[in-house]
Amino acid sequence: MKALTELQMEQGKAVAPMTPMEKIRLLTQTRGFRFTKSLGQNFLTDENILRKMARAANITKEDAVIEIGPGAGIVTEMLLQEAGTVLAVEIDKALIPFLEETLSPYPNFTLWHQDVLQADLGSWIREQQADGYRRIKVVGNLPYYVTTPIIMKLLEDGLPIDLMLFMIQKEVAQRLAAKPATKDYGALTVGAQFYCRAEKVFDVSPQVFMPKPNVASAVVRLTRHETPPADIPDPALFFALVKAAFGQRRKTLHNALSVMPEVENKAEVARRLEAAGIDPIRRGETLSIEEFARLAQHWH
Ligand code: SAM
Repeated sequence: MKALTELQMEQGKAVAPMTPMEKIRLLTQTRGFRFTKSLGQNFLTDENILRKMARAANITKEDAVIEIGPGAGIVTEMLLQEAGTVLAVEIDKALIPFLEETLSPYPNFTLWHQDVLQADLGSWIREQQADGYRRIKVVGNLPYYVTTPIIMKLLEDGLPIDLMLFMIQKEVAQRLAAKPATKDYGALTVGAQFYCRAEKVFDVSPQVFMPKPNVASAVVRLTRHETPPADIPDPALFFALVKAAFGQRRKTLHNALSVMPEVENKAEVARRLEAAGIDPIRRGETLSIEEFARLAQHWH
């Protein structure tokens, strides 16, 4: 994997490869960068994992790729070499000059200094589609403190994303790929599996990060269904119902869903559940994706 050193940049040409560790050393030793634990900064140090991620996401020149949290640009550089165009969104101001300097020689690189939860990814996606990119992918070694909100936002915003490949805590990977009536099955599972096929692709040891995280990691792939399992006229209502059902997961559905707005009493909740063909005394964790969709269709 080729990377640009400072000397090469001064000379305006690429000469020798820079490894992930060399990038991290350059960043910490010559730029005084310090890792911020609260931003979930655990940088990848292993090129094999990078190659496995590129393969798992099947990145090609036809892809427009968003990277969440580029850090020192280790995953980013792999993406710039494999993809058509890349947008990297990084919250930490301290990383921006380094990313700009080391990656700006790539003509297909765009960098936003922003919190990804606030970023208007839809506008960038529409521009790429207008430029002829037909496949949109999102890749990231995600900051672990905010993994679930990031994935939920991408799903809830209804963006036309074909594939997402994330390095996340192993425990969250298991939740994404869980089956109904298991302890891992929850709002994240239903949200993800309604829109996507969710697969854990491979496990990753803490040894391949700097600094090493306290938890085991895994790479998950979310591939958008060509056709969703059911029609839901109001996705926001679907997500609200799913969150309410799992908000109090030990409660029966007619109790848990009584927190929904515009329901007068539990009898009305029971009526709506029955209209959807769902027994009101079941718990949310026993409902399949299709049953949640049916509930959203009959919630009126
Ligand atoms: N991609 C790099 C790698 O694999 O070496 C860094 C991954 S590190 C686990 C997570 C990165 O996400 C950090 O660079 C961190 O500053 C950034 N980050 C944290 N919260 C963020 C947010 N809300 N929006 C965008 N970037 C964020």
